[in-house]
Amino acid sequence: MSAPRIDLHTHSTASDGTTPPARLVQEARDAGLDVVALTDHDTTSGWGEAADALPQGLRLVRGAEVSCASGGISLHLLAYLFDPLEPVFAAARLRLRESRVGRAELMAKRLEDAGTGVTWQRVQELAGGTVGRPHVAQALVEAGVVGTVGEAFTSEWIGNGGRFHVSKVELDVVEAVEMVVAAGGVAVFAHPAANKRGRTVGDDVVREMAAAGLAGLEVDHVDHDDAGRAHLRELAAELGLLTTGSSDFHGENKTVQLGAETTAPEAFERIVALASGVPVL
Ligand code: AMP
Ligand code: FE
Ligand code: FE
Ligand code: ZN
Repeated sequence: MSAPRIDLHTHSTASDGTTPPARLVQEARDAGLDVVALTDHDTTSGWGEAADALPQGLRLVRGAEVSCASGGISLHLLAYLFDPLEPVFAAARLRLRESRVGRAELMAKRLEDAGTGVTWQRVQELAGGTVGRPHVAQALVEAGVVGTVGEAFTSEWIGNGGRFHVSKVELDVVEAVEMVVAAGGVAVFAHPAANKRGRTVGDDVVREMAAAGLAGLEVDHVDHDDAGRAHLRELAAELGLLTTGSSDFHGENKTVQLGAETTAPEAFERIVALASGVPVL
């Protein structure tokens, strides 16, 4: 038997992916995966549908990707197998989602005022779950303003610091790590070296996160170059952190495919052993 194929970071229509959770687990199995994690932004709302549709031979890691910040720099924290009802972390996720609505409305109204043809009504229709900039970007594509979702992420439009960008509420990343752990979950720093999308934090922040209970670093990610991956592997070894690899699949909102990057079985087993919130299905 060959080694299991494990992809620990994907998005569905519960946030800013374009694949419904039920179809995502089917596509994951069709792509030859043995384990997939569903990690929608700031929400667990896709968990039930994915679990109900889980095909034979595929295991599901229920997770989320949490919007965080450190010293004014945005970053993402993957949280796996936490108890979704634990009240402190649940309240934090709710705050994050509520803030996303107001900021998306502001971005949409500014784009409408600028005569782009984008409307808040249309952005809301495009967002089935957690609303995010990719939904605003889809509206810009529909309006013929940009050619692809990716092209909206520039200083001209809604890229970080862009003309129409509005920031959202984010959790202090050290507090977020503590919250995930307190909810029985396992915290992994998502794409720590994805510096093409905006500023990234230094190793000092990773050290603080590790001291707060961070379990791992997502090393193999499409937005990381070879030097970034090598550095993260060294840092993980030094701090005793596990390393993961994942696709960060977003359906048609990005070009990356399910299983494009994978996690070693030993790292996956360590995550399972550390978790006490909910089981792997
Ligand atoms: P938000 O969480 O609403 O601020 O939006 C951030 C999301 O936009 C990320 O999770 C990605 O899904 C997406 N995103 C960021 N940069 C890009 C890009 N250059 N191309 C396509 N999608 C992007
Ligand atoms: Fe996303
Ligand atoms: Fe992310
Ligand atoms: Zn992601």
